[in-house]
Amino acid sequence: MTTNDINFDAWDREHLWHPYTSTINPLPTYKVVSAEGAKIKLADGRELIEGMSSWWCVIHGYNNPTINEAIASQTAKMSHVMFGGLTHDPAIKLGKALLEIAPKSMHNIFYADSGSVAVEVAMKMAVQAAISRSGDHKKSNFVTIRNGYHGDTWNAMSVCDPVTGMHGAFGPALPIRYFVPQPRSRFDGEWNSEEIKPLEQLLDEHADEIAALILEPIVQGAGGMWFYHPQYLVEARRLCNKYGIYLIFDEIATGFWRTGRCFAWEWAGVEPDIMTVGKGLTAGYMTMSAVLTTREVADTISKGEAGVMMHGPTFMANPLACAVACASLKLLSEQDMASRISHINKIIREELRAAEGLPTINDVRSIGAIGVIEMKEPVDVGAFQKQCVERGIWVRPFGRNVYFMPPYVISDDDLRTLIRQTIEIIR
Ligand SMILES: *Cc1c(COP(=O)(O)O)cnc(C)c1O
Repeated sequence: MTTNDINFDAWDREHLWHPYTSTINPLPTYKVVSAEGAKIKLADGRELIEGMSSWWCVIHGYNNPTINEAIASQTAKMSHVMFGGLTHDPAIKLGKALLEIAPKSMHNIFYADSGSVAVEVAMKMAVQAAISRSGDHKKSNFVTIRNGYHGDTWNAMSVCDPVTGMHGAFGPALPIRYFVPQPRSRFDGEWNSEEIKPLEQLLDEHADEIAALILEPIVQGAGGMWFYHPQYLVEARRLCNKYGIYLIFDEIATGFWRTGRCFAWEWAGVEPDIMTVGKGLTAGYMTMSAVLTTREVADTISKGEAGVMMHGPTFMANPLACAVACASLKLLSEQDMASRISHINKIIREELRAAEGLPTINDVRSIGAIGVIEMKEPVDVGAFQKQCVERGIWVRPFGRNVYFMPPYVISDDDLRTLIRQTIEIIR
């Protein structure tokens, strides 16, 4: 038995499915007993520096006293109550706080269960509104850019990248969407105006079948950790207006300061018609998401065939989740987040310099509190993570991308150690 093996739980391995995991040959899992700030504590007592924010959501770190207190005091009042016909302060307070930081045109809020469900709801909104506005049932498809990721539910999957996403495994079961190339103009580089042409051409031919363009603004996350030029969004907004299709920004990964702005749309200054938020919304405490939209979209849906927005989950606006989100937003509003994230970015940049030019590396990039080392070849996740754990860090690469998305509370020393140790493994 190696020291790592004492963390593996045989029952877990036999019976519990982990994300994207084989039951025949599952990747190792490490048992966690507690977590605090930017540290995860394993069953064998070892501590790991958190580089993933538990898939990007634990923005204030683990075991945050303010959020713990918010959840406890809400639990003492009520943990849940149905949202059909009833309402409550946590939902109202959260809605107000969200509209304060959202694009000005946002007016109506739909609370959903998770990021993927928010994407489903956003797509349903777009279809209901597009059909209502045009009177044409054909106007119900979507266009998106390649290398995107929007979640694992049915329609969310259909707008994930058709090659690196999950299309292969589901074949004709998935609805067929329109895809245009990924913008290759770098976030901090020159804008190449040719890059908008495929979208223009596609809309020119198919706008009458399309309800909306959906994309992740600025940062494409799980589809490849790519940061593209803000001008693409400006041009996309112009084309959506010209061809009468809605624009959906999926801010589930980018929201709540991850890119250095409260939301990524701010880099381009153009507003969407519909916007999804999730992940950081509840700071890694509960699952909840929200879909925001304009009064125009909301009212157009209400004037349509169904007369209502056709969605209503059991746990809609769960009071515990709303209370947690309110506490998290308050924590963000009490800090100078722009300086905090720019400080994190400075350290990421400094430390990533050591990776530049290594023979196995294709590209190194960063934006806000995200750092990416793109390898030339796909990474062996199991072997890589074993070395991470031995070195006291937690990083989980996917495909060719080794990346960092630390909690905003990480100390400078821990952040430097995290990146240095990762680069040592790559070496
Ligand atoms: C993670 C993610 C989702 C899906 O969210 P879940 O909570 O995992 O369902 C959707 N869109 C983007 C951009 C994401 O990063």
